[in-house]
Order: sequence, then structure tokens, then C-alpha cells
Amino acid sequence: MKIVDITPYVLSQELETPFYFSQWHYASRKICLVKVTLEDGTYGWGEGYGPADMIKTGIDFLKGFIIGENVLENEKIWQIMYLRTLDFGRSGIFNSAISAIDVACWDCKGKVLQQPVSVLLGGVKNPIIHPYATGFYFTDSPTLEDDLIKEANYYKEQGFRAAKMKVGLGIEKDVYYVNLLKNALGDDVKLMIDSNHAYNYREALELCKRIEHLNIGWFEEPVHPEDFKGYKALRENTHIPIAGGECEYLKHGFKRLFENDSVDIAQPDICATGGLTEVKRIATLAQSYHKDIVPHSWGTWIAISAAIHFVANLDQNPGRMFRNAPMIELDRTENPLRDDVIEHHIEVINGEIKVPELPGLGIEVNQKYLNKYGDNSSKQSLEVWQ
Ligand SMILES: [Mg+2]
Repeated sequence: MKIVDITPYVLSQELETPFYFSQWHYASRKICLVKVTLEDGTYGWGEGYGPADMIKTGIDFLKGFIIGENVLENEKIWQIMYLRTLDFGRSGIFNSAISAIDVACWDCKGKVLQQPVSVLLGGVKNPIIHPYATGFYFTDSPTLEDDLIKEANYYKEQGFRAAKMKVGLGIEKDVYYVNLLKNALGDDVKLMIDSNHAYNYREALELCKRIEHLNIGWFEEPVHPEDFKGYKALRENTHIPIAGGECEYLKHGFKRLFENDSVDIAQPDICATGGLTEVKRIATLAQSYHKDIVPHSWGTWIAISAAIHFVANLDQNPGRMFRNAPMIELDRTENPLRDDVIEHHIEVINGEIKVPELPGLGIEVNQKYLNKYGDNSSKQSLEVWQ
């Protein structure tokens, strides 16, 4: 079944409520989706994570090499894209472009074969997924503390078992807000923290010592992504699990993380690290190092669905009779692109997601919104990520 067209779409939307985290403020969303169309008219959707205009350029570069290829041979297509960009794109934006096309190819393949992606990956070993809520971003609201507590109560009502907040605003501020939210969430909802590599090792360790009695779920990106010694030293000096990897690309990036004993939990982003084809290899690598995987995801339901199918297929490692369901990240911040563009949202009921049984990713794009949110302005610095 030949690929006859590959079309990237850059979409953007201003946010009603701008927010900030440890690095900078954001006032808008901007994403790059891709539609891969086959000779019989079947099409599939993918998404890249990162600066949308640059991902679009990457997709435009790649498409000439793979139009005419058989989408059922998606691993071959992945290799063509990888080899065509190897000398210039061993990490970074080219990988996001490869990821977007790869995810769309898996969606196409599922639709052609009338099977969900999780089955094509090898089978649904985990039919129930536990998403955790990503939120608690900071705003300039005069009622910020009340807003954060309300948000915590909302997640509890929705049945979430875990939620993640941003830190990296300075140790004293972090300790204050971590205590505030831990009190609001209570003992039944795990709290994770994410500094987006805002700290050096000494600062990260100080924060750990001040909050580790609160049974924190994990500390994500505590230090610079290249500070492998800092990561390792932190793991050796706190009992808070250490997570990272959203800035890593391909199996080679994760091999560095694992060889350096940097993390307890690896967080590949499927829409940046090389797509579903490569993240399956990363999962095998993680298993060989006895590391957990909780994928990073940010964007529309295309990215979230890819993560759902991926963790549905993850091996139990180690296996046991009573085991927690695998987790995915579920961004709960304002995102009209996520909520409008994708039809047939996968439902979260009582804090659980049932792996979709529809062919492909199990979602569909409402194409009228591609015009509504279409952005050809090449505006930069508007992308939101976390
Ligand atoms: Mg993060």
C-alpha cells in the first residue's frame, strides 16, 4: 500500500491564561501535525514535538525520499528517514520530523490492516492505563494559591492517582508550593515534581532533602540533561526516584542515560525521540538495564494516543500478580488545539484509560480545525513544551 502524499500542518492558538515554569513564560500553543495519505485514500496522522515550523521543514525535506514506499514496511521507511538525516540530525528537530511521519505510518498501517496500533506493536499486555495529570503551572493570578488548590481538588475528583507540578523557581518557593499541593492532594494521590533542568546538583540535592519525607513520586529533569554525574550523584543521595529523558533522542541517547546510571525512570517522547518504531527499541534497551518507562507526552491526542498504544504493549518488568498499571503523562493545561482538533477523544474514566480497539491510533482529526488554527506566519518562540 503505497504512500502518495505527506502534508504537514502548523497550527497555533493564543492562550486565554498565559503561564510560566522554571524557564520562561508562554502565551500561545503551536504544533506541527502531519497527514500521510495512501494510494487507496486511507490516511493517518502523526505529530512532532518541538518547534513546529522547524519540524514542518524537516517533514518537507523527508517526504521526497519516502513517497512511493509501502506503508506496511514502516521499519524500512524509518531507516530511509534515519539514514537520510544521520549526518545532520542524530538528535534534535530531524528526529521530531521522523517521529511525526513514523507515528502517521503506524496509524495508516493500523487502518489498512484494521487493527489497533497496540496489537501491531505485538499485543495488548496492559489493557488499562493510568494517566497522571500534568498541571499546576504558575500564573500571575492574585489568587494563585487558591487556583492551585482548586486544581488539585479537580484532579482528585477525576480519579487521578498521580499529578505532576513544576519546581525550579528557587528552593524556598519550591518547598512552599510542594507542601501546599501535597497537603491538597492528600496521601491517595502521588505528587511528582519537574524542574525542567533548572538546578545544579547541589541545589537539586538540597530540594530533595527538604521534601523527601513527603513521599514524592519522582523528581524529573533535576539537573542539566548532559550532567550525567549530577544525575547519578543525586540518585545515590536521595530516595526520591529520579526521572529524565524528554531531551534524549533515539536508542543512543537513552543508552548514554542508562550507562551513566542517570535515571530510575526513562521518559522518551514518542513524537521526538524517533516515533513508535524507535521507542519500542528504547523500551527493550530500558528493560535490559532494568529501568521503568513512563513516556513524556505533550500536544494533541495524536501524541497521547501513541503513548497509550506504546505502554499497552510494554512488558511487565519484573512480572508479578499484583502490579500497577503503566502510566502515561496527560497534560491538563489549557490547549484548544488538543481539545478541538481531535475527534473521538479517548476517555479518562475514574482516572483510567481503556486501550482503544479502533484501527490505527483510534483517533481522528476534525479537518475543519486545520483551517481555523492554520498558521503560516512562521512566528517563532511560541511553542509550549514542558
Ligand atoms: Mg518534563
